[in-house]
Amino acid sequence: MQPGLMGTPVLTVPLSVWQKMFSYVHACPVEVNGFGYVTRRGLLDFELDDVFILEQTATAASVDVSELTIANHMTDMMMRGEDTGRMRFQWHSHVRMSAYFSGTDTSNIDRYPGDWMLSLVANKYGQFEARLDVFAPFRLWAPLEVRVIAPLEDEMARRAKAEISQKVRMPGYFRDKPVRADSVPAMIVLDGEILREDDSEG
Ligand SMILES: [Zn+2]
Repeated sequence: MQPGLMGTPVLTVPLSVWQKMFSYVHACPVEVNGFGYVTRRGLLDFELDDVFILEQTATAASVDVSELTIANHMTDMMMRGEDTGRMRFQWHSHVRMSAYFSGTDTSNIDRYPGDWMLSLVANKYGQFEARLDVFAPFRLWAPLEVRVIAPLEDEMARRAKAEISQKVRMPGYFRDKPVRADSVPAMIVLDGEILREDDSEG
């Protein structure tokens, strides 16, 4: 990396949260605006924990969530002992129009009262753009790379592991019990070793 050049900020999104956001986008015939809770894991490393919507007035071309509605939500969070500083993600839908930040969108971002926030605009075709905006100590923004993470499903992972054991020969892989190159299916030879491998994965 060149001196003085920052890396690309990355937003990690669990698959279920991504699906939830796009479910709102698909369910709404007009623009819909929502928020989300973010955990910051590093300078450029963010994780989206959840998304939600509040009451709003939406038309085909714009959407408005009143400041009172947002303030009420923040108050509810405080009453529940939650950190309102996690509410740093704003997203909205452009329905069937291109998913890019319009002049209105960037004006809205400019009015954000906090020191940094993440934004995303999406459409019904599954397209999206995301950005990080920093307001203090100085103003800057950067495109945000979104990584949707899909956790393994238990039953599928178990079946895959069984199939790997059946079909994938691994000569020499297990150091303490070498297998000759004319290998037989791993499951038969390496029964106990495989169990130990499982354990070490936690
Ligand atoms: Zn917009």
